[in-house]
Amino acid sequence: NSRWSLAGKTALVTGGTRGIGYAVVEELAELGAVVHTCSRNEAELNQQLQEWSAKGFKVTGSVCDLSSRPQREQLIEKASSLFCGKLDILVNNVGTNYPKPTTEYTPEDYSMIMSTNLESSYHMCQLAHPLLKDSGAGSIVFISSVAGLLHTSIGSIYSATKGAINQLAKNLACEWAVDNIRTNSVAPWVIKTSLIEKLKTIIDGEKFTRDVESRTPLKRLGEANEVSSLVAFLCLPAASYITGQTITVDGGFSVYGF
Ligand code: NDP
Repeated sequence: NSRWSLAGKTALVTGGTRGIGYAVVEELAELGAVVHTCSRNEAELNQQLQEWSAKGFKVTGSVCDLSSRPQREQLIEKASSLFCGKLDILVNNVGTNYPKPTTEYTPEDYSMIMSTNLESSYHMCQLAHPLLKDSGAGSIVFISSVAGLLHTSIGSIYSATKGAINQLAKNLACEWAVDNIRTNSVAPWVIKTSLIEKLKTIIDGEKFTRDVESRTPLKRLGEANEVSSLVAFLCLPAASYITGQTITVDGGFSVYGF
């Protein structure tokens, strides 16, 4: 049934070598999409590409630092030539965080988190627009965060970028509806990835895990493939009337008042 398949679709997923991006690449490829991804580490990228090829998935990759404007332009040129100018799916997944109290953030911290999380996603949408338009039924998914909706004490700059991404999804949903491009935002709570491992070395990791587990109705952290399933759903023809939404994947955290 073609409503539940991505066969013949083309997808660009940023940051696909680890964590949520990795799970999204696999999920889209498993549903039949041809996927291009990127990361900054060439050795790790090649390793994952080999594994995907062994699994029979059609995935290619480029080394790209998504916080660099010229490198983003090169990435889109590459995707455009691979996919003959037609892109059906863009997943803006790359994001980073460095939690500090607001009064301690430096101008460099601010620029680094803003450019990696918000400016890169914004520019990728601008660059991908003609390709998504050519698809005739494009889908953009942003990986946002529950931190963009609620205070979570993991950094005010990070949270501001994620709040902005949720709004961007709403704006583009309306502005690009005329091109039949749908735009949605997926907001995960704490998911077991290398980003969270890094975070736990900066803050008190054990306390963080305990707090998260106790305040999350499902009493556990999430898995990357529990996020990628929603991302894939939003890209399917079955989701053709869903646009402009921010949907949480959070084990009930955001509805737990007491
Ligand atoms: P990870 O750090 O585990 O993985 C990030 C991926 O993106 C890696 O493949 C990494 O490869 C790549 N990447 C990072 N920075 C860049 C860059 N500047 N240019 C190109 N590639 C880059 O992160 P997660 O999977 O945890 O997070 C993915 C997204 O999900 C982020 O936007 C994050 O904010 C969001 N999120 C995560 C949550 C969580 O709990 N894990 C919760 C809510 C949202 P490399 O470093 O080699 O470049």
